[in-house]
Amino acid sequence: MPELPEVETVKNGLRQNIVGKTIARVDVRDARLRWPVDTPKLQALLPGRAITVVDRKAKYLIVQLEGDFTLIMHLGMSGRILLYSDAPELHKHDHVVFGFSDGSEMRFRDPRRFGMVDICAVDELPQHKLFAQLGVEPLSPDLTGEVLKKHAGAARKPIKNLLMDAHFIVGVGNIYANEALYQASIHPLTAADQLVERDWQHLLEKVQAVLRQAIEMGGTTLNDFVNSSGDPGYFQQELGVYDREGEPCLRCGATIERIVLVGRSTYFCPKCQAL
Ligand SMILES: [Zn+2]
Repeated sequence: MPELPEVETVKNGLRQNIVGKTIARVDVRDARLRWPVDTPKLQALLPGRAITVVDRKAKYLIVQLEGDFTLIMHLGMSGRILLYSDAPELHKHDHVVFGFSDGSEMRFRDPRRFGMVDICAVDELPQHKLFAQLGVEPLSPDLTGEVLKKHAGAARKPIKNLLMDAHFIVGVGNIYANEALYQASIHPLTAADQLVERDWQHLLEKVQAVLRQAIEMGGTTLNDFVNSSGDPGYFQQELGVYDREGEPCLRCGATIERIVLVGRSTYFCPKCQAL
């Protein structure tokens, strides 16, 4: 499933390649995504509009268009966005095809169809049902340990559960949560209200470092993304604790343990991350 770093990488790739292009046509080949694609709406609102900005909100790609409209895309479980200057034959999972006025194409390909494509007016965006409930953005320059501590309030649930709760903070997937807690030396079962502001600050810095490292690794696969060949290498980053049950801790040599929290594998060093 594409995680925040992959979506950030896709955003960067789109930003470099589609800003300034004008959408000439939209072809919806299969509207049955997570929410049905509103084909008449896309076809009425998109053609003739130039792309001005590409952004990301949580794992949503936000493509700003001339005339204050926004194209919203989510990659779901298996979605990809492909760009072609010289478009090859359509793939059977190319569900939405955006043709640009210069003859190039952007395709939304999604074999499992959990993704989404929608358009809304810019001023509707903050109230959009997708964004109203979202937690804080981990890479936001305004985010601090103090903000996170306040946001967590009296929450007593395990810190790992909170880190993976999109109503609390967006885009911290299981691997990233495991790695950040290990790097911050915080046991995944620690009750959130037991963390002081300094712990939150430390943890935030580790979350950001893990995500940034993944984004950097993803950045090297940009050509794959643009050319649509090869697999992205996002999880090639060195993992300190994830999937290392029974192996020695890289810092202290103690044996890494595994528990299950909210159905997800959780790894920790019992010594470095003492409860
Ligand atoms: Zn250790």
